[in-house]
Amino acid sequence: MNTKIVPLTQDEDKETLFAKLTQAGEVIKNGGLVAFPTETVYGLGGDALNPKSSQKIYEAKGRPSDNPLIVHIADMEHLEKIVQNVPENAKKLADAFWPGPLTMILKKSDAVPRQTTGGLETVAIRMPAHPLALIFIKEAGGYVAAPSANLSGKPSPTTAKYVIQDMDGRIDMILDADAGADGAIGIESTIVDMTGEVPMILRPGYITQEMITNIIGKTDTDVTILDNDSKQPPKAPGMKYRHYAPKGELVIVEGTPENVVNYINEQTALHAGKGERTGVIGTTETIRQYKADSVKDAGARDDMLSAAKRLYTFLREFDDENIAYIYSEAFPAGGVGHAVMNRLLKAAGHRCIKL
Ligand code: AMP
Ligand code: MG
Repeated sequence: MNTKIVPLTQDEDKETLFAKLTQAGEVIKNGGLVAFPTETVYGLGGDALNPKSSQKIYEAKGRPSDNPLIVHIADMEHLEKIVQNVPENAKKLADAFWPGPLTMILKKSDAVPRQTTGGLETVAIRMPAHPLALIFIKEAGGYVAAPSANLSGKPSPTTAKYVIQDMDGRIDMILDADAGADGAIGIESTIVDMTGEVPMILRPGYITQEMITNIIGKTDTDVTILDNDSKQPPKAPGMKYRHYAPKGELVIVEGTPENVVNYINEQTALHAGKGERTGVIGTTETIRQYKADSVKDAGARDDMLSAAKRLYTFLREFDDENIAYIYSEAFPAGGVGHAVMNRLLKAAGHRCIKL
């Protein structure tokens, strides 16, 4: 398949931009697939109400079809068609956080095919905050099913470069909006299940549990999110897969900054002795002390937004740089740090060394 790559810049004239997004919307309406930018990561979109489109998304990603897709909407009025009802708490969260990086699970209506929901009676829904994504979704008919636009198992793409690397030849169109992507959050949306008595966080993200609790009162967190020993399967089917993984072996190292730096430098020397290349994810405070082949600065230790924004790019860059062993500092798990550690632990297959 010939994939059309369409550059979008925020400062190009409105009509040209609109025409490109209308054309992309037509591709979706005709049953095709389009990768598009959002404020979290790039999405791989298809018509959420067309079972064949969902099937194509699974094929393009190489994703198991029991792993449901998120339906992206651009208009609150569109919500009612795809759910059985909108609980009061869901309205409050939508008011507070939409458009934005929050996905809500609600009971689906018959309009949503099971292919989109991985066979479930519930549907995941989000209204993204990216202005171009909102126009694109409207032009596509209002309901765009989209997982992240990476091949299954690879880190989610935060730039079009990595979408092209994974999806060129597999989908109809890629909207490349890197020029205006400065505000990107860099990790996927927070997922909250609104179908039980107490809303439950299934995947942490930029919108923290505390922010949600502030709006609707009591919430729970799926225990499997940070706990590797849990015998229970995660409640978001996708969380059971080893996601986000770089090719190199990633290990998280926890301890005092001095011990962590010393340990990682010792390991670097051992690998170098065997001709193996090493990478490090450190923080601005420690970065100059590392001796690895590739050293990445996640930002200041207390700036987890910066770590969230950069994490997936680092994992992709280590692949590009043929790094065989990657060591990452552990990050403080409060606020967005919770989401960063969740993604990092998954990327590391939960390998964590406590010094
Ligand atoms: P991604 O599209 O890559 O961000 O992944 C979407 C995530 O949402 C996966 O982990 C899915 O398992 C989860 N998800 C989607 N729909 C549902 C649902 N109806 N119930 C629970 N989790 C869901
Ligand atoms: Mg994904």
